[in-house]
Amino acid sequence: SPFSVISPLKCAKVHRMQTQVEDSVKPIVDPHDIDSKLLQKLAYDALVWCSLNGLLVGDRNSKRSGTVPGVDMVHAPVALLPMSFPESHWKQSCEVAPIFNELVDRVSQDGEFLQQSLSRTKKADPFTSRLLEIHSKMLEINKIEEIRLGLHRSDYMLDEQTKLLLQIELNTISSSFSGLSCLVSELHRSLLQQYREDIALDPNRIPTNNAANQFAEALAKAWNEYGDPRAVILFVVQAEERNMYDQHWLSASLRERYPTLNDKSYNTHQVTTIRKTLAEIDALGELQQDGTLVVDGQAVAVIYFRAGYAPSDYHSESEWRARLLMEQSRAVKCPSISYHLAGTKKIQQELAKPNVLERFLENKDDIAKLRKCFAGLWSLDESDTVKDAIERPGLYVMKPQREGGGNNIYGEDVKEALLKLQKEGTGSDAAYILMQRIFPNISHSILMREGIPHKEQTISELGVYGSYLRNKDEVLINEQAGYLMRTKVSSSNEGGVAAGFAVLDSIYLV
Ligand code: ADP
Ligand code: MG
Ligand code: MG
Repeated sequence: SPFSVISPLKCAKVHRMQTQVEDSVKPIVDPHDIDSKLLQKLAYDALVWCSLNGLLVGDRNSKRSGTVPGVDMVHAPVALLPMSFPESHWKQSCEVAPIFNELVDRVSQDGEFLQQSLSRTKKADPFTSRLLEIHSKMLEINKIEEIRLGLHRSDYMLDEQTKLLLQIELNTISSSFSGLSCLVSELHRSLLQQYREDIALDPNRIPTNNAANQFAEALAKAWNEYGDPRAVILFVVQAEERNMYDQHWLSASLRERYPTLNDKSYNTHQVTTIRKTLAEIDALGELQQDGTLVVDGQAVAVIYFRAGYAPSDYHSESEWRARLLMEQSRAVKCPSISYHLAGTKKIQQELAKPNVLERFLENKDDIAKLRKCFAGLWSLDESDTVKDAIERPGLYVMKPQREGGGNNIYGEDVKEALLKLQKEGTGSDAAYILMQRIFPNISHSILMREGIPHKEQTISELGVYGSYLRNKDEVLINEQAGYLMRTKVSSSNEGGVAAGFAVLDSIYLV
């Protein structure tokens, strides 16, 4: 079965069966079997391609690379060849994207559900508590967000034993790599085209990936709905950001693509983006009488958060003031505080409980489709599960309400952490959820880091972007918006690319 192993070994074979490649084409057996001469050529060409096409990040060895564009750049960490992935699971992940988009929107409108579900977490987790505080304030003043923009990424792993595509999490804030992921798909297509004599893979089996343009389009349409041609899109960024090119790709697309679009619904003005940190927004931002947010003298139509998802982004009260100011404004927030909270791990766990999806969605097929990709998720007040997790910690992952990678607890640490929380007995367990540990297939890949190819045993996580825009009752966009495959060394628990665990990859449908 093409589902049993995710490796280019199989995809080469399957491909031969399905499309009858001429016999003269010699398929590779396994990326690890690529001889060193071919590997060196492939790696060299990949590095040139990245450099010429902006598949870049700031070099972590440099001080300025996170603040000054154009200096000390290095190719993004990438896999040299695409990872094979079953077409049926790919279709499944695309099909649920609009349903998840709609779900987030509905959940966001149920303030009581968010507050109630997070009420215990609030007491145990100061960061979530601050977010909830802003949310409460908005409920109190009955703040209504008529234009709602979601740029999400739902992440999945393919569980080897059950062959189920299981959701890891749904990101509603700062969903990263939409700018670079589409370039990885292009890089792989280009290499397969160039080396078609050596590698029997069909470049057309890498699905189209328009993540950057689709995100830019959603941002531009939100800007258009706001309706002030002089207003800008504000990117809320960290003071140091080595992943800045991923973000600049969106800005470039907004600046260059839209004025040329032959679509009358777009204003002919180009969409300008500005980049500010939370501290700068606190210093330079103000609200006008009518709720217009003005930052550094410019009216803001859309606020796109690429910071503000982690406690470390809030160094002082200044950053929290900025967050509140933005929330109070009439600018379109991506995400609003309710969208942000709807993407927390606690809410993911609550939504997985029986009969909760039914509260938000009517269509039974849609509900069944979402439920099919839910892994086991539990609150720590479910004592049977906690007991089992202490006995068999390897089968669980313990997660706090955090984003950005590197925060989860695995293996024997799960047991220790649970025992410690039991001893404390202060309710601090409410800061965490427990999740079934997913064990994806192990395959072979070549990971490129700092110019060097490494043959590794790897596992992969597929992220599918979703874009959603509505204005009052009218849904203007609700679609799957590209994808991001991330591949990491199989012995690593965590998955972040920026955090240094994984590389960017694309998929090859089998
Ligand atoms: P974050 O918001 O920090 O990215 P995630 O829930 O995505 O948090 O967890 C980070 C990483 O941990 C994931 O990318 C994945 O590699 C790993 N991980 C998370 N949940 C599971 C799970 N249930 N089974 C196996 N690995 C997991
Ligand atoms: Mg996340
Ligand atoms: Mg994640």
